[in-house]
Amino acid sequence: MANKTKGQIGVTTENIFPVIKQFLYSDHEIFLRELVANAVDAEQKLKALASAGTFSGELGDLKVEIELDEKKKTLKIKDNGIGMTADELDRYINQIAFSSAGEFLEKYKDQTNIIGHFGLGFYSAFMVAEKVTIETLSWQEGAEAVKWTCDGSPEFTMEPCSKEGRGTIVTLHLDKDSAEEFGTKGKIRQLLDKYCKFMPVPVVFGKKTEWKDGKSVETDEDDVINGIEPIWTKAPSELKDEDYLKFYRALYPMEEEPMFWIHLNVDYPFTLTGVLYFPKIKERMAIDRNKIQLYCNQMFVTDHVDNIVPDFLTLLHGVIDSPDIPLNVSRSYLQSDANVKKISTYITKKVADRLEEIFKDQRAQYEEKWDNIKLFIEYGMLSDEKFCERALEFALVKDTEGKYYPLADYRKAIEENQADKDKKVVYLYATDAEAQYGSIEAAKALGYSVLLMDCELDSHFVNMLEQKIPDSRFARVDSDTADNLIPKEDKVKLEMSEDDRKALEELFKGALPEGNEYRVEPGNLGAEGAPVVLTQNEFMRRWREMSALGGGMNFYGSMPESYDVKVNMENPVIARIWADREGTGDLLRQVVDLALLEKGLLKGKALSEFIARSEKLLG
Ligand code: ADP
Repeated sequence: MANKTKGQIGVTTENIFPVIKQFLYSDHEIFLRELVANAVDAEQKLKALASAGTFSGELGDLKVEIELDEKKKTLKIKDNGIGMTADELDRYINQIAFSSAGEFLEKYKDQTNIIGHFGLGFYSAFMVAEKVTIETLSWQEGAEAVKWTCDGSPEFTMEPCSKEGRGTIVTLHLDKDSAEEFGTKGKIRQLLDKYCKFMPVPVVFGKKTEWKDGKSVETDEDDVINGIEPIWTKAPSELKDEDYLKFYRALYPMEEEPMFWIHLNVDYPFTLTGVLYFPKIKERMAIDRNKIQLYCNQMFVTDHVDNIVPDFLTLLHGVIDSPDIPLNVSRSYLQSDANVKKISTYITKKVADRLEEIFKDQRAQYEEKWDNIKLFIEYGMLSDEKFCERALEFALVKDTEGKYYPLADYRKAIEENQADKDKKVVYLYATDAEAQYGSIEAAKALGYSVLLMDCELDSHFVNMLEQKIPDSRFARVDSDTADNLIPKEDKVKLEMSEDDRKALEELFKGALPEGNEYRVEPGNLGAEGAPVVLTQNEFMRRWREMSALGGGMNFYGSMPESYDVKVNMENPVIARIWADREGTGDLLRQVVDLALLEKGLLKGKALSEFIARSEKLLG
């Protein structure tokens, strides 16, 4: 190129750059990813030309270098890739890059709120720079170096320059705000770590430092950002367990070892690779989502993978890389994209396959890890119908003895002894082994097995299992007296007149604390049986629990607690109270309080009164 030329970038909008800046406010930092990606591409293209035999020169030490001048507030992205001739610069930057900027604005000008990431390309430089220059020398024989300058108006200049050596240097003169935000080595390092950690060409940011004579000095060695190998690009057969663990440690240095992992690798009907890990959960409720990183050809895109990965799998950790996930679209669009749907289905299937495989081949380890993976699996079963169908095969239940069973085996184990009079198999469960100890023991004494369902999701899970398992019913172990949990035949009705029932109800209600609902019923629990037994109706309790999990105080959540109060007419103390209704106030109180005490419902003043009364009775 002989002379300096001036031109007008072919964009219709008068000055698009301020608009771009404002538009993509939250995503400014991706400029660096875009420019490094272009530099990496330029080197990959050169490699391709070399292997095709078109380029026969020295490839040299292919790398991308980033240089920040903190004083001048300039940032350079240098590569020794294919470079551009003046003609190519005009075509790719002036015409293509900037016309797509115009298109982009045209497309999104009516949307006030675009969330997500866009493949913005070269012009994203103008989100942070008031002036940008490109100095470039093409790989082609006899090419001349060109310098392109643009100050953010739609005008640019192009002139010959003295750049030596093949490749491109993009220089950003950071604007005032961006200089503050991005003008430090620490910040640039952080961005490179985030976006460029796995790019396929070395990305260098300055030199490594070492401590010498009490201060940190630069060495001759390049500080390479992307030193960790992206193992997902390799075939699973080339990798050992240790490789997966090493990679996990590099990604999440603060986490404990993962429990196991799944290598994803598909190239039809879409391309996707990745490794997903089942993390060890430290605190169940404090699970981090957004630990899966999405890459596009080894370039970091986002760690918000909801809409791409089914909800329950956002609890996993790891990396997904797919060029087939559209990046420059809004999230709501993403949800309806056919490829994304297929990807989501594929990942779910792979996760189910892997779990089934471990379930079948390594049962002991699977059981050992069950308490930890249970949350994923239950969540998955509750939220994803397809996964649920699969997981019914490999989901485990644990009894209060600590023994694990697949659902089908458990059914076989209890089928005979725990079928009720309607031929339904009753699954007994406890939600708190300590608090429900008495009820668990009473049920065991009758030869029943009791499951432990003490996880956050279990109240939902119980509902779901009840629907999925034919002829089943779930009952919390303290929802009735042990002998009533699994009614074997219709009990002979207690003979008592309606009036007597009413009188009994009034008598006992008078001794029960206010604020709750009670259903008082006479029963025959034997002469040795407890005088009064308080239970909480299974269905009411489940509704309340689910309302509480659902968050808001809906109808059931705001209802008073309701209890069934069974009065054991065969118990001699009750017989005495019933025979002498008027004169047994203290005794009545005492048996009612004992029942309340057993359930932890006797508190405060009522408890002190109970103690005082006991002392008096002992007298
Ligand atoms: P995209 O990368 O999506 O094609 P860009 O706006 O980022 O869009 O870049 C437009 C074109 O400019 C690229 O396709 C490439 O041909 C050329 N280009 C950009 N940066 C470089 C570079 N560092 N070296 C060589 N060519 C480049």
